[in-house]
Amino acid sequence: MMRLTFLGTSAAQPTLARNLSGISLRREHEHLLFDCGEGSQRQMMRYGTGFAVGRIFFTHFHGDHFLGLLGFLRTLNMQGRVEPLDLYGPSPAASLLDRAIRLGFDPQAFEIAIHELQPGEEVVLPGARVTAVPVDHRIPALGYVLREAERPGEFHREKAAALGVPEGPLFGELQRGVGVVVGGRRIEPHEVLGPARPGRTLVVSGDTRPCAALEQAARSADVLIHESTFVDADQARAVETQHSTAREASALAARAGVKRLLLTHFSSRYDDGMSALLAEAREEFPGVELAYDGLTFDVPLPR
Ligand SMILES: [Zn+2]
Ligand SMILES: [Zn+2]
Repeated sequence: MMRLTFLGTSAAQPTLARNLSGISLRREHEHLLFDCGEGSQRQMMRYGTGFAVGRIFFTHFHGDHFLGLLGFLRTLNMQGRVEPLDLYGPSPAASLLDRAIRLGFDPQAFEIAIHELQPGEEVVLPGARVTAVPVDHRIPALGYVLREAERPGEFHREKAAALGVPEGPLFGELQRGVGVVVGGRRIEPHEVLGPARPGRTLVVSGDTRPCAALEQAARSADVLIHESTFVDADQARAVETQHSTAREASALAARAGVKRLLLTHFSSRYDDGMSALLAEAREEFPGVELAYDGLTFDVPLPR
């Protein structure tokens, strides 16, 4: 399973309809967040993601992307959490997150590890890797690519049976890509499995101008979540504040050949109507979707 939930989709300040940035990703037995804007914990309750978050990846440290951490940590402490929490982000993650954790008088009851990531650095998760991609914003900022490991190919039980493998636990071993011994003969997984199948790839842009490194990293991705702060009419503002327009984000997604594109991080100035933004995005990427708070979907395995 790979389940995404948008906790917030507004840029800079919350609106009545949209909270600040946060994405929940539940995958296998892990729950990750990408950013944790103010109010994220309440959105997690509202949308039923649970609080069992093991890692938070911050794209950068503008307040709209991380201030929700402070309240979330206090709630976890009060709930008696004991499991450690890993926090990741670009410079100055080490000093800034350390200060954020110590702010106030509440004792910190569980272990928190802070990992300041350099562009290109990889974080290994069970069955996947998260790579930090340098993006183009006003302060140090990272996009993230989560790439699952290849999965063993399709299991051909008739081939296994023909080789004398009895049905049962040995089938499971072979399915997982582990060789087995039957009647003194070793049977290798490739004898009974089809070609390896690719895992899923998810890309999160964070805040950025359209960025070549991110476009490269997003090539053929299953899902790209790209910021889309402005419409064409506010292009100058997008350049000035180092954000993207919906058109720019969608054109990048089309060039990268991504399978599914979700735009997020919308300026509050469009809260009363997103039709222009959507129309401009569709001209570049017809299947584009605008994310909204609570949008939840499972990313299917590629065929
Ligand atoms: Zn932002
Ligand atoms: Zn920002």
